[in-house]
Amino acid sequence: MSFHAEYAWTGARIARDVLIEVAGGRITAVTPGVTETTAVRLHGLVLPGFANAHSHAFHRALRGRTHGERGSFWTWRELMYSVAGALDPDGYFALARAVYGEMALAGITCVGEFHYLHHNPDGTPYADPNAMGAALLAAATEAGIRITLLDTLYLTATVDGAPLAGVQRRFGDGDFDGWATRVAALQASDTAKIGAALHSVRAVPAKFLGELAGRTPLHLHLSEQRAENERCKAVHGCTPTELLHRNGVLQPGTTAVHATHLSDADIRLLGSTGTGVCMCPTTERDLADGIGPARELASAGAKLSLGSDSHAVIDPFEEARGLELDERLATEQRGHFTAAELIGAATNHAALGWTDAGTITAGHRADLVAVSLGSVRTAGAEPAQAIFAATSADVTHVVVDGRLIVDNGRHTGFDVPAALAAVLR
Ligand SMILES: [Zn+2]
Repeated sequence: MSFHAEYAWTGARIARDVLIEVAGGRITAVTPGVTETTAVRLHGLVLPGFANAHSHAFHRALRGRTHGERGSFWTWRELMYSVAGALDPDGYFALARAVYGEMALAGITCVGEFHYLHHNPDGTPYADPNAMGAALLAAATEAGIRITLLDTLYLTATVDGAPLAGVQRRFGDGDFDGWATRVAALQASDTAKIGAALHSVRAVPAKFLGELAGRTPLHLHLSEQRAENERCKAVHGCTPTELLHRNGVLQPGTTAVHATHLSDADIRLLGSTGTGVCMCPTTERDLADGIGPARELASAGAKLSLGSDSHAVIDPFEEARGLELDERLATEQRGHFTAAELIGAATNHAALGWTDAGTITAGHRADLVAVSLGSVRTAGAEPAQAIFAATSADVTHVVVDGRLIVDNGRHTGFDVPAALAAVLR
């Protein structure tokens, strides 16, 4: 199957009337200026598939439910733990399938699932200790998108090493070896990678950080809240970034998520080691985390990616322009990121270990997202600037590995709005 794009984002620019030839799920040729063709026509602007580099699928159940009485952080956290306590593998499969379906409709062709909901509510393993991870892998397959399962080491409740309690017992594997043995049994495939995560310096004792160094991809939450920095300084005498660096964790295969509250030295360390940084602007807004130094990190050498994290919103356009717009609010100046840089962050599949995806070029996986340029939101926008106008509602067609999974705004596999409504009822 081949495709014809009215406009296509090829490299870092727009081309017109682009024939995108596909074989075996990969792009074999990209030819601009072709008008006569029998290929499947994609109207509007065709972008590479988006990579959602940070997801907790179960948080989708919180959307629109944490703002009562104005909604404090604790309103959110209490509800998050109650959802975390209620799911079993079947329920998690149904929820994740619907959420990944919503991602597909938004143009996301690969998700990085930061997975720590491992065990029974009392902490005992399921008969298959990877039943919950298997549910997530199956959900991504049903939704037609690729997944990197970032199986998460989560051992302690505080930086001081307090044991897990309550619903957190579901997250833990007892010790590092318990986690490593369980993760080794997970199966990768052509559309699923198994990666690793350490939840945070709060949840992983420093003595295990070195054991994780060198695994790739490796993700971690970093300095999302000032309190984490303060506890880390009190216990270890340094910032979380410095602690990770001392233990060899900072490197190009590692992605730090949020990186909101950093010192100048932290920014230099993340940049000089080529560590990736995943920003989650819509979640950071929703949780009142603050605005991370995205421009400074990128200028220092950190490769940016984007995630919808808590899924308060699933909209890669909103995340991408959030990088620029948040910088504008923080600095009272416009013009920090080009559209090409924003699209680069939104399509950073390498952050999830997929180095053969993320651009419309021969040899890459055939992931394509068609965006209407004729909607009430996008009419009149220049194709090269449409990322500042479009929302996920403007995605009409999505191709993953050469297969059409969204056709005219509908998922080809199942009714996503009905599936979400049923599972969230
Ligand atoms: Zn997270």
